[in-house]
Amino acid sequence: MSTTQASKIEIIKAPNTKINEVDFENISFGSVFTDHLFECDFKDGEWQNPTIKPYAPFLMDPSSRVFHYGQTIFEGMKAYKDENDAIWLFRPDENIKRFNSSAVRMAMPEVPESLFTEGLNQLLKLDEAWIQKGLGNTLYIRPFMIATGFGVVANPSDEYKFMIILSPAKAYYSGEVKVLIAEHYSRAANGGIGAAKTGGNYAGQFYPTDLANKEGYQQIIWTDDATHTKLEEAGTMNVFFRINDTLLTAPTSERILDGITRKSLIDMAKREGIDIEVRPVLVNELIEGIKNGSLKEIFGAGTAAVISPIKGFAYKDEYFELPKVKDSIALQLKDKLTNIQHKLAEDTFGWTVKV
Ligand SMILES: *Cc1c(COP(=O)(O)O)cnc(C)c1O
Repeated sequence: MSTTQASKIEIIKAPNTKINEVDFENISFGSVFTDHLFECDFKDGEWQNPTIKPYAPFLMDPSSRVFHYGQTIFEGMKAYKDENDAIWLFRPDENIKRFNSSAVRMAMPEVPESLFTEGLNQLLKLDEAWIQKGLGNTLYIRPFMIATGFGVVANPSDEYKFMIILSPAKAYYSGEVKVLIAEHYSRAANGGIGAAKTGGNYAGQFYPTDLANKEGYQQIIWTDDATHTKLEEAGTMNVFFRINDTLLTAPTSERILDGITRKSLIDMAKREGIDIEVRPVLVNELIEGIKNGSLKEIFGAGTAAVISPIKGFAYKDEYFELPKVKDSIALQLKDKLTNIQHKLAEDTFGWTVKV
């Protein structure tokens, strides 16, 4: 789509703002939304009528394909406000690229980069007051696409809706979590949809995660579906391990989502001179590492929490607690990354983009 089409976004302003009802200090993640949303429909083979309008429920046909066959994709990104009230995004091009590769995998139409960017930027400018300044204050951005086509027929829809909604968020800290290493259930399989950001990958995780919760573990570390010997992701985050002073993380694959936090941490670690290996990491290495004291840290990495430290893990009915470390690489990298995102440190990577 040409930029002329994308720039013809119709804007319908909300008659009043809900912002005064919001207690920004006590928002639980993903529960409050701003005054407006961006919407664009795919019909007759093209994206039509890009609109920004008041955030509100909308009507859908009960036979819409998304309800029956799960044709849906999403992204998760954040906007930040610096000390001079400028709005910044972190590597938005990467989110747009990934959104469109998810679209291809789910047989959905791609969203032109200009339409995505224009819609997002204009929405952010309109709801700019919802982005609070200061480290830890962010506006979580949730772009998504659903199949709106009519009929319970198991083939791809010919109509879709692309939307962007915005949710103010405090630094998301889940506490130090205990995790269970998966021995039976899988998040993804070779040839499957594990690398796409699509609802089904999450729905499939809820039941095994509930079972883990009942045993006192907050998350599952997913292993490869064929052998359950390789460590792949932690819940809905990528996962890193520190053995002595080396960081380890699995290479991305059809089973592992190509996280932007993950790849940023890899680049930062390299620049900081931290030893990092991107290679399959085995469950056995963890067990050995915990027994001989070389395993120092495990942490999840993703946009919502940035870095989420893990304090211990269970495997085959045995629980192993990680040692307390004083020089946490996880926390060191988290500080550096959040400072770059909030424009409190120089962005020598060129990752931040002004809206
Ligand atoms: C979104 C997501 C991640 C993290 O990706 P980021 O780009 O860092 O937010 C990791 N794993 C899964 C399964 C995800 O859905």
